Amino acid sequence: MNAPLPLKVTQETATHAYDNVARISNEVAGRLAARLASDTRGEVLFSAADRGRYATDASIYQVMPVGVFVPRSAPDVKAALDICRDMGVPIVPRGGGTSQCGQTVGAGLVIDHAKHIRNIIDVDVDKRTAEVEPGIVLDHLNAALKKHGLWYPVDVSTSAQATLGGMAGNNSCGSRSIAYGNMVHNVLGAQAWTSGSQLLQLGPYAASSGNARELGNYIRSLAEELHPAIKRMWPKVMRRVGGYNLDIFDPQSERPYTADGSVNLAHLLVGSEGTLALTKSLTLQLAELPKAKVLGVVNFPTFYRAMDAAQHIVKLGDGSLTAVELVDRTMIELSLQNPAFAPTIRSALIGQPAAILLVEFSGASKADLLPHLKRLGELMGDLLLPDSVVEMVDDAPQKNLWEVRKAGLNIMMSLKGDGKPVSFIEDCAVPLEHLAEYTDALTEVFRKYGSKGTWYAHASVGTLHVRPILDMRREGAPKMRAIAEEASELVRKFKGAYSGEHGDGLCRGEWIQWQFGPQINAAFAAIKQTMDPINLLSPGRMVNPPKMDDTRLMRFAPGYKVIPIQTALDWRAWDVQNDPVTELTSAPGSGGDPAQGFAKAVEMCNNNGHCRKFDAGTMCPSYRVTRDEQHLTRGRANTLRLALSGQLGGMHAADAFTSDIVKDALDLCVGCKGCKRDCPTGVDMAKMKVEFLHHYKAKHGYTLKDKLVARLPDYAHWASRLAPLLNLRDKIPGLAALSERFTGFSAKRSLPQWKTRTFFNHPPVSATREEVLAASKPVVLFVDTFNGHFESDNAASALKVLQAAGYTAHVAIKNVADGKHLCCGRTYLASGMVDAAKAKASELVDALLPFAERGIAIVGLEPSCLLTMRDEMLVMGLGEAAHTIAGQALLFEEFLAREAAAGLLDPLKARLQPVEQAILLHGHCHQKAFGAVSPILEVLRLIPGAKPELIESSCCGMAGSFGYETSHYEVSMQMAELSLLPAVRQQPDAIVVADGTSCRHQIRDGAQREAIHVAVLMAQQLRA
Ligand SMILES: Cc1cc2nc3c(=O)[nH]c(=O)nc-3n(C[C@H](O)[C@H](O)[C@H](O)COP(=O)(O)OP(=O)(O)OC[C@H]3O[C@@H](n4cnc5c(N)ncnc54)[C@H](O)[C@@H]3O)c2cc1C
Ligand code: SF4
Ligand code: SF4
Repeated sequence: MNAPLPLKVTQETATHAYDNVARISNEVAGRLAARLASDTRGEVLFSAADRGRYATDASIYQVMPVGVFVPRSAPDVKAALDICRDMGVPIVPRGGGTSQCGQTVGAGLVIDHAKHIRNIIDVDVDKRTAEVEPGIVLDHLNAALKKHGLWYPVDVSTSAQATLGGMAGNNSCGSRSIAYGNMVHNVLGAQAWTSGSQLLQLGPYAASSGNARELGNYIRSLAEELHPAIKRMWPKVMRRVGGYNLDIFDPQSERPYTADGSVNLAHLLVGSEGTLALTKSLTLQLAELPKAKVLGVVNFPTFYRAMDAAQHIVKLGDGSLTAVELVDRTMIELSLQNPAFAPTIRSALIGQPAAILLVEFSGASKADLLPHLKRLGELMGDLLLPDSVVEMVDDAPQKNLWEVRKAGLNIMMSLKGDGKPVSFIEDCAVPLEHLAEYTDALTEVFRKYGSKGTWYAHASVGTLHVRPILDMRREGAPKMRAIAEEASELVRKFKGAYSGEHGDGLCRGEWIQWQFGPQINAAFAAIKQTMDPINLLSPGRMVNPPKMDDTRLMRFAPGYKVIPIQTALDWRAWDVQNDPVTELTSAPGSGGDPAQGFAKAVEMCNNNGHCRKFDAGTMCPSYRVTRDEQHLTRGRANTLRLALSGQLGGMHAADAFTSDIVKDALDLCVGCKGCKRDCPTGVDMAKMKVEFLHHYKAKHGYTLKDKLVARLPDYAHWASRLAPLLNLRDKIPGLAALSERFTGFSAKRSLPQWKTRTFFNHPPVSATREEVLAASKPVVLFVDTFNGHFESDNAASALKVLQAAGYTAHVAIKNVADGKHLCCGRTYLASGMVDAAKAKASELVDALLPFAERGIAIVGLEPSCLLTMRDEMLVMGLGEAAHTIAGQALLFEEFLAREAAAGLLDPLKARLQPVEQAILLHGHCHQKAFGAVSPILEVLRLIPGAKPELIESSCCGMAGSFGYETSHYEVSMQMAELSLLPAVRQQPDAIVVADGTSCRHQIRDGAQREAIHVAVLMAQQLRA
């Protein structure tokens, strides 16, 4: 065993601990990594990129850790603890890393519990308790509990990412805390290691013994000694999460921590933010899943009246009130501007309210709850707001409205420019009777500092979220302090809690002493000293914290600079500045980004962790397979940001950007555009990968595989003539294996089969250019490489259906006849050949413009090709013409759904024969990203008897050429096995519809089933 390092981390040096570690980190890091690798089974991640990816959370801060450790089991955590103690290296425990205040950033060893330490140890249905490991995600726990009719009811907004260990660390609170309380109210016990590796068994004090009992006695003596100070200084509101829970022995919260008033020592750990002990397991109090919910949406003419009404509304419901959530005018406006959300929000509005409150009642049956809705209406009448309540009794509208409430915040977070909504006073809690005055006064404070805030969230418990817009690269830090100081005065005036939901971390640590006074603050230091005398666990947090506005600890620290880049795509839309009050942005390209907007697009990632979702159909499929931070949209954006700003080790930024480190992080990105659709701030990694590949390949060169994939549209016409020869690869044993060596395509894969007779060389009869331009029902069909060469039946079927529906259909051809077909450039983009892609796109624009200018729909079949016209082609410098074409470009099913809605498809419907079989639909990723899946369902429903069922799947794993490649084969199959292939196998007799060429191939390879394009099914059902 190595000798301990001479680093002493004592209480006195606490605030310097990170600096010390950083100074000697090279020496420490090497030895630490070696010991972790030899003494544990965990993953040891010490590269500059790995450390950088764990240097941030959802806060404004950034601190480089010495290294990252991903334990595989609890004994690994204990071993890492022993090693760190031995070497004097601080530990920063971490779950999903979604903290908003910098709780999970620090210069020690970050221990990531989320990847492996996530077992449910026990569920006792009768007692309604569960024991879990700290890395389990709340949604995953609740999914497992559902079958028992139970759930863990601390429903944080980040339920899809937040781990129970992290929730306990922060004393997290959900939207329904008025009914269920915070974490502290729902934790029954904890096992945790102190920095001396003592395993504490923390639970009811009365039943405690040994070191837990001693600890309890000590805390009790502190609480007794400080009783007058606690009485005087401790906020009485339920939403107080700052400091340690010294009040377990002197209850101050308006909601007692335990139902019977007893003391539970586990509550000491809740909200301690990893500074007292490492949680090994938690015992949780579960609740019965509510059987029914109803929602009353109260419309207010002024924001003030909404705030004022909250104190009266919370008295309703006889215990069935579960939420009172605020949506303010700004959020209403944002939702109204979004076509997807506008109908839902409109259905909740009466006139033009300044704010709405979503008032939810939950109980055994809707009938039981209806009287509460009636009473809500009466109350509003008493408050001189008669007829102000929209009642939502059915589940679907309620669910939709909750989605809008969440999405409103997302739209707010997507503000382009350097000014961003910043978390630092976003969760102050004040007693409800002061809510109106408090929000009014704080709004004034924002105005004074040239900013504004949008208010939302938990009106029921006096915790409203608000983030003033600040530019943290310029004058943000001093403004942040000034606003914080004024906000704190208001909190004091109204006897509230400065830290009411998200924890202390770096941005509120220094306010602990302000909130509790020097005596209690000293007691907190004493608790830390008792439990962690060597200050090993997250030093410099909670006790002796740094200043909130220490810019050296920030992501955009002084000196942050990005390298100049000549971008291949047009990123100028991101290169803007904004006005913090009006939120208006400056002209594209005026933001001062040396990387022409690319860096600012990358920096849009604020690390909120939304991409760590595991739901099928959302981002990020590669992360779902590997669970590695590196393979997460967040990890990729961070890698790019670090590279562009010269923070990847000693490498020069220009070299770092085109390095294999960045390539590795982006390698498993399948370009599904899931992030484009789901990321709250609009991080579009698929497009970023194209930009990166352009630079990377320019430096490192293109492989044969790149060329074979990219240039497929160019050689397809002569390759089809050699079809029998080329198809031998999949017929002669050994040939696939042989070709794998030099092409890089996996021998385990079949390749698309070449055809001698194709749609292009034997096109069916269609209208001429002149005919379509003169027609009353015109449509132009764009046939791509894949449907034109490999699956010509799809293109022929589409033409047949369009003609049967009475359209004059013209198949688009090149302006210059060179024997080749039109191409969107997709395959070139996928290989990083942006210039070649632009040339293809330019030809396409020239060919299609005359039709688009006449308002004629341009219909395509392959989602990734057609949707390129609505996406990448707009950032290729093709001018207004590209936008004109994008405005007319529709997928086959989008076109038919549009026409059906306009009542124009009755003749077609009359010709469709009924279908008997079940129909399963797999949506292509790009269809999902562009909201183009429901039109397929609508079109399928035109067929009599059809009851299409959407498979809850995300990327099929094939993603263009990705899944064919040897290096990606395994990951590709794992992606397919996540949900798509099992769903297909489950219904052996169903017709499987999939519009993506590669999706169909994957289904054939993985489930041995022939999936078909929707156009084929429609054509098959046509009566002669
Ligand atoms: C968009 C957004 C919305 C949010 N909404 C809410 C909300 O509705 N309610 C709410 O309360 N919070 C909310 N948060 C904050 C955050 O998501 C929660 O605090 C969440 O519970 C943190 O979980 P995590 O797994 O990401 O923990 P992390 O951020 O990884 O860690 C949280 C704390 O726990 C400590 N910790 C983690 N594991 C251990 C362990 N094994 N032992 C000891 N300490 C440990 C960490 O050191 C850290 O101090 C939100 C954040 C974002 C970005
Ligand atoms: S990529 Fe998007 S979803 Fe993921 S952490 Fe960044 S901002 Fe959040
Ligand atoms: S494009 Fe898809 S795979 Fe790539 S980062 Fe986004 S969600 Fe993940």
